[in-house]
Amino acid sequence: SKLKEGLTKTRDNIVSGIDSVFSGFSSIDDDFYDELEETLIMGDIGVVATEEILDDLKNKVKENKIKNPADCKQLLIDSIKEKMNLGENAYEFENRKSIVMLIGVNGVGKTTSVGKLAGLLKAQNKKVIMAAADTFRAAAIEQLTEWSNRTGADIIAQSEGSDPAAVIYDSIAACKARKADVLLCDTAGRLQNKKNLMEELRKIDRVIEREYSDAYRENLIVLDATTGQNALSQLREFNDVTNITGIILTKMDGTAKGGIAVAIQAEFGIPVKYIGVGEKVEDLQKFDSDTFVNALFD
Ligand code: GDP
Repeated sequence: SKLKEGLTKTRDNIVSGIDSVFSGFSSIDDDFYDELEETLIMGDIGVVATEEILDDLKNKVKENKIKNPADCKQLLIDSIKEKMNLGENAYEFENRKSIVMLIGVNGVGKTTSVGKLAGLLKAQNKKVIMAAADTFRAAAIEQLTEWSNRTGADIIAQSEGSDPAAVIYDSIAACKARKADVLLCDTAGRLQNKKNLMEELRKIDRVIEREYSDAYRENLIVLDATTGQNALSQLREFNDVTNITGIILTKMDGTAKGGIAVAIQAEFGIPVKYIGVGEKVEDLQKFDSDTFVNALFD
């Protein structure tokens, strides 16, 4: 599958290490756990998630009276899966009148993800409008216009440099007039200036509260998997200024750092809802922990 193909490097990075731990030890002792810990951290699973996974594994090993390392591999896989629970209603916005903000720093794949998400929803016969509220970058408006042509989703845009809140206002008006299901908003992520960013997001919030308070809200942060642990610090920063409800993890194709999908969810308890595995419209997939972990280990 495309997912399995895309995760080849992550799989090589994590699984080959884990396999050598399981085959290199004949008993489950502190050295075994230390080696496993190092392997998971090297695989970008993160310190917090790794500790939780190992605590969990140790309990399971005790409970099941397991003596042989080879016999606890499946328990490890189960523990990793348990760290990535989506919770209920993860995709509620797809089936309601909703407004979805895509937030994140430049270059992570926000505009592309808005386009792919539009394609995914259009395939479910939803009426979709895209708001080109990244007015900071002229290319973002052009890119989104191309995605509109490609997917058939409507786009509302103003000129470069215009007020993002005004674009959102126009887009909401269009949603009401055209009875749209989902409004997808591209935004500019200028984390360098946190105060401006906060003010911009607040202004947008006020418009939404005033004009579209009955719409279901979803704030998705877009993170680039190839940036590894940097993605975690971006999430930390954005989570300070706004209420993040989910994650789109892009560029999972071809990176060895796919393990951060585990790290992020364990550390923040915010679910990864979609992953990007390429640049085309079909390259956005719903995240499923079973499928993900199986693609890594099978
Ligand atoms: P933005 O600045 O956050 O809006 O980022 P863009 O949407 O412009 O994307 C930046 C670059 O990353 C573009 O060249 C995209 O085609 C590419 N990109 C986005 N998502 C993915 C993905 O899942 N996989 C790959 N390989 N490239 C991606």
